[in-house]
Amino acid sequence: MRSVEEHQRVVTEMIRPRPAAAVPLTGAQGLALADDVVAALALPVFDNSAMDGYAVRAEEIAGATPERPVVLQVAEDIPAGRTDELTLQPGTAHRIMTGAPVPAGTTAIVPVEDTDGGVQTVAIRAPRPAGAHIRRAGEDVAPNTTVLRRGQVVTPAMLGLAAALGMAELPVIPRQRVLVLSTGSELVTPGGPLRPGQIYESNSIMLAGAVREAGAEVVAVATAADDVAQFGALLDRYAADSDVIITSGGVSAGAYEVVKDAFGRDGDQGVEFVKVAMQPGMPQGIGRVAGATIVTLPGNPVSALVSFEVFIRPALRGAMGLPDPDRPRRAAVLTESLTSPRGKRQFRRAILDREAGRVTSYGPPASHHLRWLASANGLLDIPEDVVEVPAGTELQVWDLS
Ligand code: AMP
Ligand code: MG
Repeated sequence: MRSVEEHQRVVTEMIRPRPAAAVPLTGAQGLALADDVVAALALPVFDNSAMDGYAVRAEEIAGATPERPVVLQVAEDIPAGRTDELTLQPGTAHRIMTGAPVPAGTTAIVPVEDTDGGVQTVAIRAPRPAGAHIRRAGEDVAPNTTVLRRGQVVTPAMLGLAAALGMAELPVIPRQRVLVLSTGSELVTPGGPLRPGQIYESNSIMLAGAVREAGAEVVAVATAADDVAQFGALLDRYAADSDVIITSGGVSAGAYEVVKDAFGRDGDQGVEFVKVAMQPGMPQGIGRVAGATIVTLPGNPVSALVSFEVFIRPALRGAMGLPDPDRPRRAAVLTESLTSPRGKRQFRRAILDREAGRVTSYGPPASHHLRWLASANGLLDIPEDVVEVPAGTELQVWDLS
């Protein structure tokens, strides 16, 4: 049997980053920058007013008081967006709005609150020192400044900065494109009726959600019956547009194992099937099909999601250059006694009390108990060689919260 670490290495090795690309800002959020970003523009772009008020020469209003206001002729009205270049003549003021370009010759802005708000002439009731309320071009960003670094993950604020600098695209490591295929002749899409022997298909929606939560993109979600031709048709249809294909089901030791049958059980058709020393999630497969990496997960819902957590999530995040590919691991004290199978690393659904540093298993270990996984906030990680775990033992817990 292959160890969990070894299979993690194999999967991580097979899921490769996509080439860096310039993508429109709307698609860049959450992706890692593939390059430094250098400002081609100054911010502010031009000297502009920080207040609604009047552009003046500071020395002309130095003596202004409420009792003896300085009265100036208002020569221009400058709303934000005015694009002609103006000059402030001595002895005049320009009415100016926040964000509007400051006319040449201006040395201060007097806020409207310190004036009578006049349109023909303005009475200014208080002085302002030179430079007051003028935002200088380049005081935020000087041209050619490196404003963002390669590896930073794009946030809304970074999108705002890029847009302010006039950039329509950012250089990023693109999202991994993931195809999610469920297999099983017993599976019925939720919403319709069930016949005896049928169950609702639940892995694809769950795995697609996990893919998105990992920061990757879902190419398509589909279900095939245990029929090699049907399964193959889905691969033919979607594999070329995918970087990673995740299948669930059809990899166990029984008959009608469609995924194994599709690729040949002896690993000579691009996919190798292995047993990994873990519970749940022992039967695994990994390979290459039509240029994509295929990871074949077992069908039991808990096995499928735990396998995703252990093998695929870290590999996807790593390939996208995203921080913390692994879930945070926390040491916590077990509140009960547990047993664990010899020779297998066991991942048990758990409730982690982070403040108290305590952990309690949640639900039985068998891999069909989806209900417990749905409300667990951690995975207890019990090492391969451990068989008995007495209450009070400190264990590693993968923090899923
Ligand atoms: P398999 O790995 O195909 O042998 O499936 C193992 C168990 O998981 C069986 O009980 C299946 O019915 C169940 N199962 C497989 N795929 C799904 C799925 N997509 N949704 C819900 N249950 C599934
Ligand atoms: Mg099956």
